[in-house]
This record gives sequence, structure tokens and C-alpha cells, in this order.
Amino acid sequence: MKKIGGLPLSRRVAKKVEELKPSGIRRFFDLVVGRDDVISLGVGEPDFPVPWRIREEMIYSLEKGFTSYTSNLGLPELREGIAEYYTRFGVRALPEQILITSGVSEGVDLAVRTLIEQGDVALVPEPCYVSYKPLVEICGGEVVTIPTAPDFKLTYEMLMEYADAKAKILVLNYPANPTGVSYSKKELEEIADAVNEMDLIVLSDEIYAELTYTGRHVSIASLDGMEDRVVVLNGFSKAFAMTGMRVGYVIAPPDIFAGMLKIHQYCMLCAPITGQIGAIEALKSLDEVDRMRAEYMRRRNFVVKKLSEVFELKKPEGAFYAFPKISSAGMSSEEFAEGLLMKKNVAVVPGNAFGECGEGYIRMAYAVKFEKLKEAIERIIEFVDEYGEG
Ligand code: PLP
Repeated sequence: MKKIGGLPLSRRVAKKVEELKPSGIRRFFDLVVGRDDVISLGVGEPDFPVPWRIREEMIYSLEKGFTSYTSNLGLPELREGIAEYYTRFGVRALPEQILITSGVSEGVDLAVRTLIEQGDVALVPEPCYVSYKPLVEICGGEVVTIPTAPDFKLTYEMLMEYADAKAKILVLNYPANPTGVSYSKKELEEIADAVNEMDLIVLSDEIYAELTYTGRHVSIASLDGMEDRVVVLNGFSKAFAMTGMRVGYVIAPPDIFAGMLKIHQYCMLCAPITGQIGAIEALKSLDEVDRMRAEYMRRRNFVVKKLSEVFELKKPEGAFYAFPKISSAGMSSEEFAEGLLMKKNVAVVPGNAFGECGEGYIRMAYAVKFEKLKEAIERIIEFVDEYGEG
């Protein structure tokens, strides 16, 4: 066995980390880096720049020399702003329950590390965003996945089937990445019944809440009896097109909040001050979100109309992803995505990157300019005509 500094190479990286699989999204992202000829529907990143008013506030803050740490908790004005803002999703939270994080990514990590220890079970409906499972596993937890294809909606019955799983948490994300599925208040009430019966804590990743096309998003934390059972995770990356600013937040019950704050103090100190200042302005700029939402909705309608002629496709109710079933073309998800990239220079993500039950699907992010999207869809249809079965 090769050794470095007396340590066998096999022991240098922790076993749990070594066992992690690399993200399937990144693999396809790396394939297209630097290729201008490729239309990428791969990465879930808004194609809009940060709205100008928000950028202006951030630039001005830098000119004034606001470049320090903030309190671990985040800027008070931002926490107050979020408490007020979240009432639109039905939640009445106190600023003291709100912790500003470096993106929702940090929020998920803090919540999982606070709640999960060796042997705890996390229920994760699939297909799902890629970070939940690895983070639970690093903490020694066990992930039990709940396959939701072909409707992609978790129901009371589906959840109750796992009543014996000794689960501690349920990870819910809606509107969902990668499927665009969301839930009405009534549907959430049914899920909440099962959550209560099974005595679960819900991590509710609501990062696409603003990008809901069917009415107003309802937070599961707003339902009767749920305020003590839900950790809400949200942020500014998607709706406000602020991915690089790294600002998110959690709204959590006091005991869980205290645990998360302790970890945050040690691993992050605080979210970037420039982003936090931008986020304060973002909350005053909801008209900018309306403008971007309207454009995403126009693209969603176009994608649904065109792709439904070729594939089975569930109409996305939110976010900026479509998740068509491509197995009718006689290819696996990976074969389809690789073939499409090689033959037609269009990048998508194979559905199995989001869990086994995503096999037979691809994820397409419609966060690209309309003309490019149109061209990409034409190329996808050509690809199926030329290389698909039947
Ligand atoms: N949660 C979901 C469902 C996402 O799709 C993403 C990003 O794609 C994140 C969290 C991470 O967001 P952030 O930029 O706030 O870390």
C-alpha cells in the first residue's frame, strides 16, 4: 500500500467522504465549459443579471467601505425584512427565528447536521435536488428514498407507507428541482397529517417559492400545528437572480435554531455582507421578480406546448425546469443526454442524477434566453427524429 507521511493513502480521506458520489449535474457542466457552440439547459442558474437597483446598493455599500463581518445572525434589517416578507407565504415568524446563511446550501447543511446523527433516518422523496442525500450520509444518517414517479407528488398514503422506517426528518422541496412540481394548501395539509402521525421534522426547501405559476406558494410551516415541526429554507439565488451573492436564510423553531446557529458560528461566521445588503434591497424590489417570473412562465408554456408533442411531460407548476420522459426514444437518460450533446450541441442533465426513479427522464432548465430555448427545442426534436426509436 502506497504511503504518504506514514499514513496509508486509503486512510487520508474519511471513508464517508470517499464513498460520496460526485454530483451528476457537475459532470455534464464540466463537459460544456468553454464550449460556445453548446446551448446549455444544464445548470439551474437564472440567465438574468442581478437587478440593477440591487447591484447599485451593493456597489454603493462597497464605496462606503462596508466590507466587514456582520453579526453571526445576519444584518438585523435583513432579518426583520424577511420576517415581514414571509407573511406572503402564510408564515408569521419573529426576526429572532431567522438566521442568514451563505445560500440555501449552507441552510440545508446546518439543518441536517443539527438534526441527524448516526443511525437516524431521513425520508427523501425522489427525484430530488442533489445535496440532501450526501449531507445526511456524511452525518452517519440513513436516507430512505420515496419514489414519486410518474406524478412526482408526495401524498399522505405514500408517506404513511414509511411509518415504520423510524424516520426523524422529511425533506420536502417545492416547487421542485428537477420536476417543477408544487403543492396546494390542501395537498400540504394531507402531507402534514402524515408528518404529525409519524412525528417527523420537515426540512422545507422553498428556494423556488417566488417562481410559482399556479397561484401563491403556501409554506408548510404556515399550517396549523406545523410551526414547531418545520425548518424553512429559502434564499435569494433563484427568484432574485443572485446566485453568486450567496445569501439564504432559515426560519426554525427555537431549539433547532440554537443548534444551527452554533454550527454556523464555527463554520461560516456570517453570510457575505455585500450580498446581505443586496438582499435588503431585493426585498423592496418584488416588481423585478414579477418581471422575471412572467418571462419564465412564457418559456414554460412554450416548452410544454412543443415538448408535449414528442414526450410525456408533466406541466411544471413552478421553478424553471421541465422533466420530460424520454424513454420512448429507446435510450437511457445518460445515452440521451450524451447523444444530444454530441450530435446536437444541447446540454441537459440525465434524470437519474436526481435519483434512481429519474431514470428515463431528462432535466431541462429553461433559464436561457427565449431564442436559444427555441433553437434548443428544435434540435431536441430533430435528435429524436434522427436517432430515436419508433
Ligand atoms: N435547493 C435547491 C432545490 C436548489 O435547486 C438549489 C440550487 O440549485 C439550492 C438549494 C442551492 O441554492 P443556493 O444558491 O441558495 O445555495
